[in-house]
Amino acid sequence: MKTEKDKNIPYKIYLKEDEIPTQWYNVRADMKNKPAPLLNPGTLEPMKAEELYGVFCEELVKQELDNETPYIDIPGEIVSFYKMYRPSPLVRAYCLEEKLQTPAKIYYKFEGNNTSGSHKLNSAIAQAYYAKKQGLKGVTTETGAGQWGTALSMACSYFGLDCKVYMVKVSYEQKPFRREVMRTYGASVTPSPSTETEVGKKILSEHPGTTGSLGCAISEAVEKAVTSEGYRYVLGSVLNQVLLHQSVIGLETKKALDKYGIKPDIIIGCAGGGSNLGGLISPFMGEKLRGEADYRIIAVEPASCPSFTRGRYAYDFCDTGKVCPLAKMYTLGCDFIPAPNHAGGLRYHGMSSILSQLYDDKYMEAVSVSQTSVFEAAEEFARIEGILPAPESSHAIKVAIDEALKCKETGEEKNIVFGLTGTGYFDMVAYEKFHDGLMENYVPTDEELNESLAKLPEVK
Ligand SMILES: *Cc1c(COP(=O)(O)O)cnc(C)c1O
Repeated sequence: MKTEKDKNIPYKIYLKEDEIPTQWYNVRADMKNKPAPLLNPGTLEPMKAEELYGVFCEELVKQELDNETPYIDIPGEIVSFYKMYRPSPLVRAYCLEEKLQTPAKIYYKFEGNNTSGSHKLNSAIAQAYYAKKQGLKGVTTETGAGQWGTALSMACSYFGLDCKVYMVKVSYEQKPFRREVMRTYGASVTPSPSTETEVGKKILSEHPGTTGSLGCAISEAVEKAVTSEGYRYVLGSVLNQVLLHQSVIGLETKKALDKYGIKPDIIIGCAGGGSNLGGLISPFMGEKLRGEADYRIIAVEPASCPSFTRGRYAYDFCDTGKVCPLAKMYTLGCDFIPAPNHAGGLRYHGMSSILSQLYDDKYMEAVSVSQTSVFEAAEEFARIEGILPAPESSHAIKVAIDEALKCKETGEEKNIVFGLTGTGYFDMVAYEKFHDGLMENYVPTDEELNESLAKLPEVK
């Protein structure tokens, strides 16, 4: 609610173009307990840079393994690209506050203002840039819901790189428009599992008729990259380098809040692989780690895929085909296949190693929410704030509303900041199910989780 005190705070806080960050912030530099290293799945020894060079671009491997450098320069060409759609607005949700009749002040950082419709472009452009700089021909990747594949195809077309996307077969068939956006930007899109790779053929022979999974598409994309001359693999979430690139979200948010002397009490984000949340909280977490400030930080995940709240902190494979290195993370087990939840971007079995360590060290909290409660929040938000939110982002909306309603009970004027990661134009089938009352709230049983957790690799 806009009060006398708020008269100087606009609905949208825009930074100026020259206020776009020129350095990314690497939160690992301020962590006492560093995230656990990636392990070679054969030897169980920490992966060395040279072992990763066949899979990832060299500069990105350096960023992946760098636990010490706090600030890393953003190359000028990436900053120029950022200028096409950044800085993104930090919006004060005055209308939502009014509707909820809460004394809380709600802010959201909106990352949906680009054609890919999500924050994923922030890292896609960086990864494409380093691939180009290394003189590569192209990159391979996987996509589930399609946001990452779209962002990457935009980034690759900008730098004239070939882009090969393995799209989970069920999404390929159900989301033809996403597929066509990628092809418009010049990407080739293959439904996964496919017969183009050995791992794809193996999965198809073992599970004929399967509609695929993210873990299986990752295995295919990695195999394609390591067996094709001049290609490397890129990933849109989970990895340390991705959280680094996404720190632009948090750096801009902090700069905008600082301008108006606003200190957040609660920072909320949805968590799939952890990249938007990690990016949003990084500079705030840095202050917390250095003992300069305190914030409540909340990760929100779907009850159908609850890595933080019901998973185990352990080494696990990142993919179903078990070709990738092992990562220590909160995981449900790489064989866990979540129920067909409508927030496709939150269906990954694991979680960023950085966030996993921070959560284990109790620097942040996590909650899980049911699917229909998320869509109720999405609709309430859309009707009053105008933006049609992505189902993933709506997990954060749900908990921001819950926290604002708690403030109503207690009369506290807390500052709540949440990440609105994207728009939901390609998710209308999910909205349709919700409106028709056909949406289910699937929650895995303990038995189901124990079954996949029992298969975790043994690492001491
Ligand atoms: C991919 C995606 C997410 C989840 O991924 P994170 O890496 O956890 O950020 C959230 N929101 C949107 C809109 C996405 O596309």
